[in-house]
Amino acid sequence: MKLVDPYNRRLNYLRISITDRCNLSCLYCSPRHQIPKLSHEDILSYEEILRLVRIGVQLGISKVRITGGEPLVRKGVHEFIQALHQVDGIRDVSLTTNGVLLKDHVNALIDAGLHRINISLDTLKPDKFKKITGLDAFDRVWEGIQRAYQGGLSPIKVNTVALRHFNDNELEDIARLSFIYPFHFRFIEYMPIGTPEAGMTSSLHTPEIKQRLTDKIGELIPVEHQLSDGPAERFRFEGAIGEIGFISAMSHHFCHTCNRLRLTASGQLRSCLLSDHQEDLKTPLRSGASDEALSAIFLKAASMKGVQHGLTADTPVRISGQMSSIGG
Ligand code: SAM
Repeated sequence: MKLVDPYNRRLNYLRISITDRCNLSCLYCSPRHQIPKLSHEDILSYEEILRLVRIGVQLGISKVRITGGEPLVRKGVHEFIQALHQVDGIRDVSLTTNGVLLKDHVNALIDAGLHRINISLDTLKPDKFKKITGLDAFDRVWEGIQRAYQGGLSPIKVNTVALRHFNDNELEDIARLSFIYPFHFRFIEYMPIGTPEAGMTSSLHTPEIKQRLTDKIGELIPVEHQLSDGPAERFRFEGAIGEIGFISAMSHHFCHTCNRLRLTASGQLRSCLLSDHQEDLKTPLRSGASDEALSAIFLKAASMKGVQHGLTADTPVRISGQMSSIGG
């Protein structure tokens, strides 16, 4: 049996949140008032995750991404990445990080077999970085990005959530970096997940961003889409060495191509980021369930995957789980 959902999408990509803890508290992601954190025992151990990955591989998973919370705050992440690379059938392992701890981790990550990395960065201004994230750490993140570049990680994808009134006056500056660096600069639409701080809901969608970049910088030339690209639409400016991407979950959802499942830090399997439905893997895993029983839960999660998420740019509905524990 393979993970194929009722709409014939083959699910081969597992995003794994290894912790709900983060060293940042971005206004739009984890609100500043304290959300209780999971206790150590509530979080799946690396051994438990590896068992689930092996089961997933039998069902067709071949690609994994490690996320969080902030994955680099969890001890043992390098060894875990190395162990993932050794799972027969896993062909691609990647990592999403906020970059704060990256400079000290790059070499170990590369030694663990990591080839590519996604780094979240919403502003190029240190004071605004502090305002959005709650930590004065822009310089550290920038140094982390430079080290990742020098270390040869490729591609480096820099992900920016486009936020009206917060960073919308910087999107061109970020896009212009594609003339200097061979990175993929990707603009992500804000999604209504969890409890953000007030004022974070004013949406800024891809068509408007594209228009602004075209007016100010030049034509966005489409880059041929590869099967492995995921949901980003890819472009390049004439003469640039890097790329521009757009991830438009709200204005132009890409659910028909979705190949993902998400394993939360607390061992819940979600088949859609923008749906609260989840299947509990942790309880059976810890009560001695067989591989067959756990496989059945994977298959059930796949069978529950909706044809598309129910949110649109105009619906006020919010997803109640926190992005910081689902992993984005
Ligand atoms: N800590 C890591 C990081 O910052 O990349 C990984 C986890 S973080 C939840 C993953 C990504 O989700 C980040 O790029 C973050 O900006 C994005 N994100 C968080 N909340 C979001 C929201 N409501 N809408 C869109 N993207 C969001």
